[in-house]
Amino acid sequence: MKTPVRVRFAPSPTGPLHIGGVRTALYNYLLAKKHKGSFILRIEDTDQSRYVEGAESYIQNALDWCGLSVDEGPSTGGSYGPYRQSERQAVYGEYIQKLIDTGHAYYAFDTQDQLDQYRKDHEAKGKTFIYNWHNRNKLDNSLSLSEDELQQKIASGMPYVIRYKCPVDEQLHLHDEVRGDIRIESNILDDKVLYKSDGMPTYHFANVVDDHLMKITHVIRGEEWLPSLALHVLLYRSFGWDAPSFAHLPLILKPVGQGKLSKRDGDKMGFPVFPLEWTDPTSGQTSAGYREQGYFPEAVINMLALLGWSPGDDRELFTLEELVNTFEMERVNTSGAKFDPEKTKWFQQQYMHQLSDDELLEKVRRMLEKESIQVPEQLNKIVLSVRERLIFVKDVLEETRFYFEPPKEFDPKAIKKAWKNETPALLEGLSEHYKKCTDFSQENIADTTKEWIASQDVGMGKVMMPLRIALVGSLQGPDVFEIISILGKEETLQRIAFSLEQISAST
Ligand code: GLU
Repeated sequence: MKTPVRVRFAPSPTGPLHIGGVRTALYNYLLAKKHKGSFILRIEDTDQSRYVEGAESYIQNALDWCGLSVDEGPSTGGSYGPYRQSERQAVYGEYIQKLIDTGHAYYAFDTQDQLDQYRKDHEAKGKTFIYNWHNRNKLDNSLSLSEDELQQKIASGMPYVIRYKCPVDEQLHLHDEVRGDIRIESNILDDKVLYKSDGMPTYHFANVVDDHLMKITHVIRGEEWLPSLALHVLLYRSFGWDAPSFAHLPLILKPVGQGKLSKRDGDKMGFPVFPLEWTDPTSGQTSAGYREQGYFPEAVINMLALLGWSPGDDRELFTLEELVNTFEMERVNTSGAKFDPEKTKWFQQQYMHQLSDDELLEKVRRMLEKESIQVPEQLNKIVLSVRERLIFVKDVLEETRFYFEPPKEFDPKAIKKAWKNETPALLEGLSEHYKKCTDFSQENIADTTKEWIASQDVGMGKVMMPLRIALVGSLQGPDVFEIISILGKEETLQRIAFSLEQISAST
């Protein structure tokens, strides 16, 4: 392995970072940290037409939220900057000249109209037009021009691109850390544009030059870039540079059906595909984010780590630090990984359960403050009474709303099931009994209620179920005696009285 390990995450700021991008960043981070190397963020913004306002800060915020701290990058700085490609134009100019001088790249003056025409002509004959070794000598480029003619054309201001001159009749031997050896005939490749007519390098060129200059040792990226591997390896060779090692990560697939999980799938299928919420600056449309839905970053990271990688046994729970120690590129799968929103929830639940009581209470307090809900005196008791059932912090409110406000309505199904003719008399009797009680601790209320029920010669359910309905409004919720002890005497009596009034009136 080449050391020191230097990896980069190189997103284009064309929109919010998809969850697949976060996984790419994560695997890069894990490899870097495992080998005490550096994790670099490089913003690939050479395609100005696709630039989206706010996307770069979104990327940075998403990495921060996930705990993937960047060692070098646009906001962190570093010795190999600038880390935004739009600020590196002079660098690319120098290197493209090298390729032209050594005959590995050439000027092409063909206009878009001409190229479209070639395409149409080929289609009419049932063929596909490819700008390649086969026809490049017949096209409008510097390969068939003398140096004088070329200089004249350039001086006349005629727009041009610079293309890579792919080698002919060669079998290329490529290697991918995930997929192994790959053989490719150079003749099937096209002469890709390296420099556009707007004077900006294309992704391929800037990416390779930067990876070299930033001393990147391992390129880890999504499988969609595998078709570019041959060109990238050829570019390294043409420059006379050592290539980094490459690993292309398997696709993340839709939870159901066929194909790659797309940016649109989340909103369609009801789960987020973005780490943070994103509002599109042009359409104003908002897409859901894991953070805003209440997921902990630890859960999202854990879920993503196992989406395409396996530790070799059935262990599923890993902190980021544990992932750093366990992660191995060799155990990245070749086949696509189906995204499983339910499993993500399961991870969230595990991390929720792992919180200490104090950590949970702190999070609940912060949430209540954010929602401008007054923190009740009995908060600790309330939260701890439902903690086993929580998946998200916000569930506290859902699960315990009855502590904050008395039920206004009563679940008709519950009434049908548990509210019988004898119920009003029983609850009235119990109410009278409670009026005489002074100790409303959970233990005492449990004992005294059970004794009273026994004295009435009825089954427990006959009293306990309607009592629960009176207090909560449904048959849900934690232990009834716990509820009574938290609500206290006055509130308990009021709720019983109110239910008797309301339910008796409606039945
Ligand atoms: N800018 C490319 C992207 O948006 C980077 C691909 C790579 O890592 O080489 O994904």
